[in-house]
Order: sequence, then C-alpha cells, then structure tokens
Amino acid sequence: MRIDCHCHVFNNDCIPVKGLLQSRFGIVVGGRLSDWLIDAGKDGAISFLDAFRSRFSMDFDSLLGSLTDPSEKDGIRYLLEHPGQFVRFFLAGKRSVREIVADMIEKADDIDLWVPLMMDTQSAYEGSSPLCGFDEQKRIMMEVTAEARGRVLPFFAYDPRSRPVEAVRAAIEHEGFVGVKLYPPMGFKPCGNEEPAVEGNLQDLYEYCAAGRSDPIPIAAHCSWSDGVTSNRKAHGVNKHKEYYREMAHPSHWEGVLAKHGNLKLNLAHFGGAGEWERRALTGPLPAGKKNWADTILKLMKDHENVYTDLSFHGILVGNVRKAYSRALLETIQGVEEKVLLGSDWYMSALQCGLEDYWLRFKEAFPNQFNDMTGRNAVRFLRSEATKTFLPDFLASRNGYQSKYLEPFRDS
Ligand SMILES: [Zn+2]
Repeated sequence: MRIDCHCHVFNNDCIPVKGLLQSRFGIVVGGRLSDWLIDAGKDGAISFLDAFRSRFSMDFDSLLGSLTDPSEKDGIRYLLEHPGQFVRFFLAGKRSVREIVADMIEKADDIDLWVPLMMDTQSAYEGSSPLCGFDEQKRIMMEVTAEARGRVLPFFAYDPRSRPVEAVRAAIEHEGFVGVKLYPPMGFKPCGNEEPAVEGNLQDLYEYCAAGRSDPIPIAAHCSWSDGVTSNRKAHGVNKHKEYYREMAHPSHWEGVLAKHGNLKLNLAHFGGAGEWERRALTGPLPAGKKNWADTILKLMKDHENVYTDLSFHGILVGNVRKAYSRALLETIQGVEEKVLLGSDWYMSALQCGLEDYWLRFKEAFPNQFNDMTGRNAVRFLRSEATKTFLPDFLASRNGYQSKYLEPFRDS
C-alpha cells in the first residue's frame, strides 16, 4: 500500500486566482499576471511570457523577497527562471476536478491512495472571489470521493473565521472526509489569536479531533516559510504583509496547542519548505530562528507522539542538491523516521517537475525508506474513526461498496 499523503485536486475555479497572485507577487504584478494567464488560457498560447517579461512592472515592497531570496521556490524569481513550469501549473488547474484526479491516478501509477487537501479562501481574500464557492467545492469533493471507492481520502479545509466546528463534525462523520486541513497564512494562527470567536472555534476543533480518542482525527497544517500563498487583506499597522501572514504558520505556534492537547495528531506539512531544505543540504542549517523552522518541527516531533511532517513540494532533488538533500534529511530525522510522510503536493508541485519525476526522485533519494514513508507511516497517521468507520459508511451509503483499500486502517 502506497499513499500520497498531501495533494490537491481543487481547480482554478475554487480559488480566487487574482487575489492569490496579488498576495504572492504584489498588487500590480499579481493583477497583470492574472490577466495574462487568462488570455494565455483562452488561446492556449504560452507566448504571453514574453509579454510578461517586457511589461514586468515593479511593485517593489511585495516583490523584494521574491526577487532576492533564492530559497523562495514559487517566487517571482523562480517563475522567471522556470516559465515552462509555471504554465504547466496553471494549465493543470484549468481542468475539472475529475480530470485532475484521473490524470493524477494515471501518472502516479504505483500509488494506491491519495489524500487531497481542500482550500478555504472565503475569509482570506478581499476584492476577489472564486467562481466555485466553498460549499460547491465540498460537494464536488464528496462526489469524487464516492466515485474513487476508497482510493481518495480527502481532508476538509477549516478556517476558524468562516464556520463553527460543527461543519468539521459533519464533514468527518457524514461527508467522507478523513482529516482537517489548516492553512494559517490565510490569516489566523493555530492559537493566540486576538478574536475570542476564532480562538473558541480552534479550541473546539482540537477538542473534537483529539479528546477521548485513542486514534485522533488527523490535522494537516501548512508549515513552510519558503513557499505557499498568503491572504491579500491589509492588516492594520503592518508593512510587510507577506512575512506577517507567513509567520502565522510558524511551528512554534503549535507548542501552546500541544501543551493543552498532547495527543493531537498533526502533520506539520513541508518540514519548513523546499527552500530551507535546499539550503540545509548545501550549507547546513541556520541557527534556530526565523528561517530555521525544521528544527522547531523536529523538536515537536520528538516531544509529541502524534506529530508528523511531510516532504511535500520538495521536488528539488536534482543536480548537486539530490545527494546532499537525502544525506541531510536522513541525518536530521534519526529517531523520528516513522513520522515522516511523503506527499507530491500535486499539482502545486507542477511548478517544480512532472508528477512521474517527483515520485521517481523520492524513490531514488530514499530507496530504504520510501516504502515506510508512503506505507505504514501514512497508515498510522491516517488511522482514526474516520478511516475505520465513517468513510466506509459514507461509501456504503453512496454505492454500497466495501473498499479493500481501507482494510489497513481497520486494525490498531
Ligand atoms: Zn499543499
């Protein structure tokens, strides 16, 4: 059994593309990029990149990090150096959710199960809303889950500003979802938020997932400073918005949560990010601090039985990075090997390489660990009442089918 623990199948209609690009690249560049991508999509041409290069307009504050920090693996600098990958990424997201799933299953033909993580952008973006709202995204995800007959194990996106935790309970117990996805850079921290309602919803979530359960419902949380998207909302008294929102994903925010809910099952996704790992591989870790998130994640993994990480969006294993990366990673994870998961982060990782190459590179980098990372580690992470009971019940209610793919989750 091989499991891709972190992928995405929502399409461009499910995310506010313009707001998202603006948050990543600045108001001017992000807005233009969005317009050009729409034009490029219309005629299927990719020559718009020449226009992009020549009409490139500086929105300096927002772009500075993207241009100067080579660790940013989806920044403007990376985009200009890898235009083909950016087009591949955008075109991948233009297809229907069903097409994205079918293509992913076909390309990763030795993976058996997939864990697609939803995205909730409803409270994160100003002046830009998705064509397909959150409820519709959820409905499509439920259809796809039913059709996949146990091979697709989706995580429900939760933004504590958007809805109470009853939505999570319904998603897990009746709608086929087996875990929860949190994306703090959308504008909330895992704990320590000023708004009491947001804090209350988060505490309710952790209680629901962990309390009284020998196998808690798993939560996957974005935990990378070197890539990913942020809210585009202006925050009062804040100058550097990208850094402000990125910092909300910092692993240290989880210390307080885990002090209260010690058995919470958590995947701190990306292990700090591909940029941090590229640098660690080539020059060693920085002292603990702002751009060394991996050591904080590692400490949480060592201190808490149910804290995991994944190597999603780490499709950088080429050239001189490859050997150095696997050496640095294996050295770092000594003692917590059983809590490292693999995820393709497809189709976000279309920015890095094709899906076949992504898996091939990991097989070659970790020949002795690959089976455990995609196998028993992932099964342990995903095993809960949701995979044992709720998802089988959901599938039975939809198609009367008992999936053999869910058998590994039955025994503790
Ligand atoms: Zn992801």
